[in-house]
Amino acid sequence: MGYQIAIDGPAGAGKSTIAKLVAEKLDFVYVDTGALYRGLAVHFLKEGIDETDETALTKACEKARIDLAYENGIQQILLNGENITSLLREERVGNLASRVSALQVVREKLLQTQREIAQKKDVVMDGRDIGTCVLPEAGVKIFLTASVETRAQRRYEQLIREGKQADLKKIEADIQERDHRDSHREIAPLKQAKDAVLLDSSDLTIPQVVERIIREKENAGGN
Ligand code: C5P
Repeated sequence: MGYQIAIDGPAGAGKSTIAKLVAEKLDFVYVDTGALYRGLAVHFLKEGIDETDETALTKACEKARIDLAYENGIQQILLNGENITSLLREERVGNLASRVSALQVVREKLLQTQREIAQKKDVVMDGRDIGTCVLPEAGVKIFLTASVETRAQRRYEQLIREGKQADLKKIEADIQERDHRDSHREIAPLKQAKDAVLLDSSDLTIPQVVERIIREKENAGGN
């Protein structure tokens, strides 16, 4: 069994940036579980699945094989053997992933994949239910959050840097909608695990957050 660091929190809190840096420092593998949900969403889009049709969704889940691979240390998602990583960040993929991730059939499908990875390797895994559901025995659990305004502003600046169009108000509304959906779903809702450390990154720099997590790991002991 590998050492497990679980980082959960709402969209745009900086989980992936932080988790990647922590993994690098500790020489652990970074696992972005949102990408697995996005990978399944790509499959549903490719197959033209009606997301309200549970039978079709169940069948589509059975047909999809989602694997993780690493290229130069960067996580890749394979859908039935095809590398679909470049499609994962599309807005429609994120929105569909957020909707279908509320469904039992989807969560069950990906639960095993996530646990298997953490069995074999030392991981920093980020998501919504890692500390509460996927890895309840994780050595360190972090609940990373930031105000809606901060998260929207960060996303806005990222899009502008990438030379894309961005509307701050729309980004803020999207984030609020996603937060609501993620935290109010019946199965594995986004919530802080009882034994997780709450970190609000609104007024902290990236290195400060990374440092805090490394310190938590040192204090928790283990190897
Ligand atoms: O983190 P990211 O935005 O890539 O995740 C896409 C969607 O997948 C989220 O909006 C969330 O609804 C879902 N998700 C989840 N559980 C996880 C990771 C992501 O429900 N562990």
